[in-house]
Amino acid sequence: MTDTHPARMGHPRNSVTTPSAPPIFQSTAFDVPDLNVLQALYSGEVAGDIYTRDSNPNHTALAASIASMEHAEAGAVFASGMGAVGSIFLTLASAGDHVIMARALYGKTVQLATRMQQQFGLSLSTFDSTQPKQLPSLLTSRTKFVLVETVSNPLLEVADIAAIAGTLENRVPLIVDATFTTPELCRPCSLGAAVVFHSASKYLNGHGDVMLGVAAGEKSLIKRISETASIFGQNANPFESWLCQRGLRTLPLRMQQICRTTRVLAEKLADHPAVRRVYYPLLSSHCSSEVAQRLYPHGSGGIFSVELAGTGFDVVNRFMQAAPMIPFSPTLADARTTMSHPATTSHRFMSPQQRLELGIQDELVRISVGLESPEQLLSELTSALDAIHVH
Ligand SMILES: *Cc1c(COP(=O)(O)O)cnc(C)c1O
Repeated sequence: MTDTHPARMGHPRNSVTTPSAPPIFQSTAFDVPDLNVLQALYSGEVAGDIYTRDSNPNHTALAASIASMEHAEAGAVFASGMGAVGSIFLTLASAGDHVIMARALYGKTVQLATRMQQQFGLSLSTFDSTQPKQLPSLLTSRTKFVLVETVSNPLLEVADIAAIAGTLENRVPLIVDATFTTPELCRPCSLGAAVVFHSASKYLNGHGDVMLGVAAGEKSLIKRISETASIFGQNANPFESWLCQRGLRTLPLRMQQICRTTRVLAEKLADHPAVRRVYYPLLSSHCSSEVAQRLYPHGSGGIFSVELAGTGFDVVNRFMQAAPMIPFSPTLADARTTMSHPATTSHRFMSPQQRLELGIQDELVRISVGLESPEQLLSELTSALDAIHVH
């Protein structure tokens, strides 16, 4: 007799054909035929998923894609970029251990490390990631890892990953946040990093509609980090993984276009009289220009920052009001161009003094270049700058 209860309905029939696009496995759990199969699954004899917090076909597919794009052994997915970095900290560092971090890191990553310091007595050292020679003298017997970003936010300082890995001589793992550069521009695991991670909420998904994190690296490390993510509930979800997989298909094209446009805008806007300074690594005025020419000759990604001439938040407000086509949105790497204000968003938890020490002025506006044409963006940004320019 066929079952008439709707709770048991809705499973697609088996088919000799397969979907041309990947399906979404929006399922909490997976039915296991019997205890023998369960045993084989747990021992790794057969591959399969049991519970989505631990694994899911959409997670596995995305993790494998990231691993192969990064030329790494294994990959993993997380609830967000912070889920990735949080799981890395909780896996690699225990109470009383020591971690070395780049001086200029994503604001929430700094908050996470500070929280680990306050709650678990983690000791932290910082170094200037553009000066790898500073590193060896900071290593102690309790140093568990070194954390850097490929290109820093919002001043775009470029880390020479190979040089940093070189000074470490495999004594501690190097962990790299490559959110700003993507595997299209930099593959840290090929340069000596043990683990690379990304906020996939940014370029990898690329459409401003997903929160997700990914990591790739040495198989044993990635396995331990994934287990931590599962225990602490930092797991990704199938729909987000599916969306990111979809976004990845156009990553090479998007990054090419974005790099090209960003370079044009940075070069042109640097000469505008309403601009005090443009931060973009391929400009000769930038402190990382030499490294950037060598590592990112075709562009360092889609982010550049503009320090407006004038003083205080007022000039920033006037600029934003004069450029309504370019929304103020405290994220980056959307398909459309957006701007943000580091002093009141990503770095607002710092004192004005701390911000100045990092070089983040109140008049600094960070621009995340999207897929619009360079001509259109140049004209919109130039007219906004014209509007705030005091003759
Ligand atoms: C956004 C971002 C993160 C955090 O990622 P979420 O997905 O927002 O949690 C970490 N590092 C960098 C460089 C980022 O831009």
